[in-house]
Amino acid sequence: MTALLPSRTGARVERLPLARFTTLGVGGEAEVWFVETHAQLAEAMEVPYRILGGGSNLVVADEGVPERVVRLSGPFAERDLSPDPLLSTPEQLVTGWVGGGVPLPGLIRTLQKLGLSNLEGTVGIPAQVGGAVWMNAGTRYGEMFDGLHTLEIVTPQGARQVTPDDLGWGYRQSGIPRGHIVTRVRLKLRPSTPEAVLEKMSAADQARKGQPKMKTPGCAFKNPGGVSAGRLIDEAGLKGTRIGQAMIAPEHANFIVNLGGASAADVHGLLALIRERVGVPLELEYELWPGEAEGHGA
Ligand SMILES: Cc1cc2nc3c(=O)[nH]c(=O)nc-3n(C[C@H](O)[C@H](O)[C@H](O)COP(=O)(O)OP(=O)(O)OC[C@H]3O[C@@H](n4cnc5c(N)ncnc54)[C@H](O)[C@@H]3O)c2cc1C
Repeated sequence: MTALLPSRTGARVERLPLARFTTLGVGGEAEVWFVETHAQLAEAMEVPYRILGGGSNLVVADEGVPERVVRLSGPFAERDLSPDPLLSTPEQLVTGWVGGGVPLPGLIRTLQKLGLSNLEGTVGIPAQVGGAVWMNAGTRYGEMFDGLHTLEIVTPQGARQVTPDDLGWGYRQSGIPRGHIVTRVRLKLRPSTPEAVLEKMSAADQARKGQPKMKTPGCAFKNPGGVSAGRLIDEAGLKGTRIGQAMIAPEHANFIVNLGGASAADVHGLLALIRERVGVPLELEYELWPGEAEGHGA
């Protein structure tokens, strides 16, 4: 294996197992770039790269990935929730910058305590802000684009600021091309009360009650033609099926969980078994790494 070259711009660069950064807890090694400045990000993007968020929608191969893996750190993982006096009105508070690397669950809890509404429908999504924006993550109670005012997006060509109106966003997609990095956003929020926000969060929370609490990348398959994928897998008698240390969750058949020490190969084995037994085409909900490289240097 070749030695790691130090970054010219001072980014921390380490070869690390990606299992450490995914909610499923599987994934081999890659060169991880912890970027804290735009200069470090620009350097990281000089060769093929991938951007890693909360790792909550990923199954990373046991061999890892050959590209650089960018991790937003430092100021890109900090948040300024103070109202921008020039952009805020009594009806709508516009915040300072919230980094793409900020964990979404903590942000949602803080907004509830501050009595600020618009994003509470995303409660329980274990993403980072940037990853959640890129996918327009959400539930039937609300989604990320309900609370976005401005986005900063970085490509190998540089940084630009856009508003949601500039993007072709929709159901679970932002319209932001793969490999374009959401570095930070300003939120637009509606002043409310902590109690009212909490009440709305409870409904979204309640809907998650049947989900497994173990290591998982969330739902495995999209619902084909409006039919519940979980029900189809359950009807195929697959709940509780194990390959190695990966298991189809007994609580909810559309979740694959890591019992401890599962490999990506175990998970792929279960995905193939489900597809074979269910007998209707099933589209994956999560992303497999490596697929295509996410971006290329200039
Ligand atoms: C228990 C559980 C429950 C879940 N519930 C829901 C739910 O209710 N609704 C829902 O929509 N999803 C849900 N998910 C799936 C997942 O949380 C979302 O898809 C989320 O948007 C993934 O964000 P992430 O930061 O973890 O991204 P990652 O998994 O790290 O990456 C996913 C994709 O986003 C890209 N990406 C990451 N960060 C950035 C960035 N800063 N800029 C640009 N692209 C980026 C990555 O390159 C990759 O292509 C759930 C997952 C789990 C494990």
